[in-house]
Amino acid sequence: VKVRAAVLRDFERARPYASTHPLGIEDIELDEPSYGEVLVRIESAGVCHSDLSTIEGVLKKPLPLVVGHEAAGVIEALGPGVTRLAVGDHVVFSFVPTCGTCPACTGGRPALCEPGNRANGSGFLLREARRFRIDGVPVSHHLGVSGFSTYTVAAQESVVRIPSDVPLEIASIFGCAALTGLGAVFEAARVSPGTTVAVFGAGGVGLMATIAADVIGASATIVVDPVESKRAAALALGASATIDPTNESAVDRIKELTGGRGADFVIEASGVVRAFEEAVAASAPGGVVVAVGLPAGTARAQISPAMLVAGDRTVRGSFMGSSVPQRDIPRYIALWRRGKLPVERMISGSTGLDGLNDAMDKLATGAALRTVVRPHA
Ligand SMILES: [Zn+2]
Ligand SMILES: [Zn+2]
Repeated sequence: VKVRAAVLRDFERARPYASTHPLGIEDIELDEPSYGEVLVRIESAGVCHSDLSTIEGVLKKPLPLVVGHEAAGVIEALGPGVTRLAVGDHVVFSFVPTCGTCPACTGGRPALCEPGNRANGSGFLLREARRFRIDGVPVSHHLGVSGFSTYTVAAQESVVRIPSDVPLEIASIFGCAALTGLGAVFEAARVSPGTTVAVFGAGGVGLMATIAADVIGASATIVVDPVESKRAAALALGASATIDPTNESAVDRIKELTGGRGADFVIEASGVVRAFEEAVAASAPGGVVVAVGLPAGTARAQISPAMLVAGDRTVRGSFMGSSVPQRDIPRYIALWRRGKLPVERMISGSTGLDGLNDAMDKLATGAALRTVVRPHA
């Protein structure tokens, strides 16, 4: 079939992207789904900071690439061997396909699925295939999703079925921002009620972590972000206080707000090295720091080993919220249904594929929280 998709061909473009167009909106070929694969009509795809990092070349991907990794849609056709999904099913994409049989999957940590992450690294679907083509030449998939397209082909292990009455615009957010931010608090940090939480970075993931801390009953949720509108969003979504780190020391202020102790749990969701260092420095004795923001692979941070030892602190990373997508996406959607996770308040606007480069600019400057792309709009 012919599809319309956002194709990244190089990492060279400077901002504003609305003029330099790193993402070409092109009509390209999409093959039929093969064994174990499904054809999905994409209804909604969130513009995530990792997409921006991909365009900037901070997260290197094999090019050319159909971008987008946070999406929801409707199953349009099934390849052979697909048994657990049906045409017409509504699905959210999981940006790591989970094979179900590797040591990571059987050990309960499917975010670390070995064949899934290997396929993601090489721009393939789980079964080592590429289904997009331009003039007969294969085009890479973005984390098995490629959501900025009217249609995509994905491994059945890359999608999670959801109830059909959930608006797909909202559902798409559960694929990355919600899974990562909620998982950081619920699964990685395991925040307990009545404790204090600090969140560095109030983008999609940080705001979801803020919501999660509120749901779990943190006694204080302190959010650090240099952008005023993001701090305002954090306050609206349950933060008890916010800090502008360009204006005052985030570490000092967090200590002040926690009786001098520091925060029991700190979520680093900005991907900025300095923020990671401050997150560790702002943690209470016995505290847990969870890094979910993803800087470049070459980035290095300075933290005090003595502070970890003497304060019995834990620093850990969390990929995809350390979650189990097939279990957690339906759980989180059920929580959303009960009104506990107001993810729709994070959506700051929607656009067609043609507005995607502009949406990337808005994400880079902090002018937008979450733009959702409606490829058929
Ligand atoms: Zn993402
Ligand atoms: Zn696996």
